Amino acid sequence: MTLLVRAGLLVTGTHEIENGWVLSRDGFIAEVGSGPHPPADEVVDEPNCVAMPGLVNAHDHMYQWATRGYVPDGTLFEWLRALYPVWARMDAETVRVAAQAAMARLLLCGCTLSTDHHYVFPHGRQGIFEALVGVASELGLRFHPCRGSMSLGESKGGLPPDSVVEDEEAILAHTEEMIGRYHDPGPGSMCRVAVAPCSPFSVTPELMRDSAALARRHGVRLHTHLAETLDEERFCIEKFGRRPVELMEDLGWTGDDVWYAHGIHLNDGEVDRIAELKTGIAHCPSSNMRLGAGVCRVEDLLRAGARVGLGVDGSASNEDANLAVEAHQALLLARVRNASPSALDAHTAWRLATEGGADCLGRDDCGSLEAGKCADIACFRIDDLAHAGMKDPIAGLALAPPSRAQTVIVNGRVVVRDGRLLTGDEDRIAREIAATSARLAG
Ligand SMILES: [Zn+2]
Repeated sequence: MTLLVRAGLLVTGTHEIENGWVLSRDGFIAEVGSGPHPPADEVVDEPNCVAMPGLVNAHDHMYQWATRGYVPDGTLFEWLRALYPVWARMDAETVRVAAQAAMARLLLCGCTLSTDHHYVFPHGRQGIFEALVGVASELGLRFHPCRGSMSLGESKGGLPPDSVVEDEEAILAHTEEMIGRYHDPGPGSMCRVAVAPCSPFSVTPELMRDSAALARRHGVRLHTHLAETLDEERFCIEKFGRRPVELMEDLGWTGDDVWYAHGIHLNDGEVDRIAELKTGIAHCPSSNMRLGAGVCRVEDLLRAGARVGLGVDGSASNEDANLAVEAHQALLLARVRNASPSALDAHTAWRLATEGGADCLGRDDCGSLEAGKCADIACFRIDDLAHAGMKDPIAGLALAPPSRAQTVIVNGRVVVRDGRLLTGDEDRIAREIAATSARLAG
C-alpha cells in the first residue's frame, strides 16, 4: 500500500522543499522529492498547505479531559488537592471517553505520536490502562502509554489522599504485565509502554528505585514529573534533604532512557547535568502558565545540549491539546523570560514539537520526514483567513498557531482529511465527554 502526500511547502525537519512530496509504503517513508512524483495507490494533494513531520506530544494525562475547567486560578498543589477526590471516582469507561476526546483533539491538531502518563488507578477499578491502549488503536494514534503510579498517601506524608494510592507490589506487578502485553520495541511500533511513578511527592523513593530497575530489565523508558514548582522543591528538601534533581540522581533516575515533565526550577549546574546525562525534558508552556508554576529555561537547556520536547500536559491544566499552540507558547514564553525577541525562533519551536519530542520518547524513527522513517505527516493550511498572505509560512504558523490541521497521516494512513477526523465521529465524542464530565462532577 503506497500513499503520496504532496504539499505547497514540505518541511522535512532539515530542508524546506517547494512543491515537495513524500511517498510512503507500508507505513514507512520510501522517498521524498519535489516536482513530478511517482505513482501511488492513494494521492493526497495539498497545494495550499505546509506539510511537516507529525507533531509529537511528550507529556499528557488524557483522563483529565473529563475534569477540564476545575480550579481555574489555583496553584499546582491547590489544584491537585481539589481534583484528587474527583479523579478517585473514575473508572475504565470514564478514562475511555476522556482519552477518546483527548486523542481526537490531538490528531485534529496534527499530533501523530503521543505519550500518556496515567497514574490514577482507584481501588478495584479494572481495565483502565487497557482502555487507553484500545482508544489509541481505534483512532489510529501512535501511542506511548506510561504506567504511572502513586503510593505515598497523606497518611505517610504524601500529597494525594490514601484512596487514590496503590500498593507498591501491585503497581510493579501490573506495570510488568502491561509491558508484556502491549510494549512493541520494533521499528515503526504503534505502541510502547513506559514506567512512570507520578512525582517525588506522591511515591516513595523505594518505588522510584524499583520502577527504574523494572524498566531497565525490560528495556522500556522512564518518565516522571520533576522540578515543576517551588512547592515540590521545598517538599523534597524537607522530606529527603535533596533538591529534586539530586534526588533523581540518587535513585538512578537519570540517563538517555529517562525524560522528565517540566524541568522548570533548575539551577545552572542542574541544567548542565541534565544535558550531560542525556535526560529529556518535556516542556509544557501552557500548563506552566495556567498554574503559575514558573518558566522552563528552554534556551539554556538547548544551549547546554539537552533534549527538549513539548507536551500539552493534562487537559485539566491546559484545557486544550493543540501542540501548535504549545510551539507558539514556547516561543513567546522564551522571549518573555529572556526579554529578547531572538530567543527561540520559529524553526526551533517546530523542531521541539517534532524531533525534540520524538527524542524524549526514544523514537529515532519519528520526528522528521526522511526515507526509512515512519510516515507520520501533518499538513496545515496557509490559505485560510488566519494565514493567507503571511510572508514567512513557518514563522507565520508559529506566531498564529492553526486551530486544527487540514490533513494528518499516521503510519501511512490518512486519519484527518479536510480538518475532519476519519477514524471517529467528532460530534459523538463531544456528546460523550459532556455527559461523562457532568456525571463525574456529581
Ligand atoms: Zn503532568
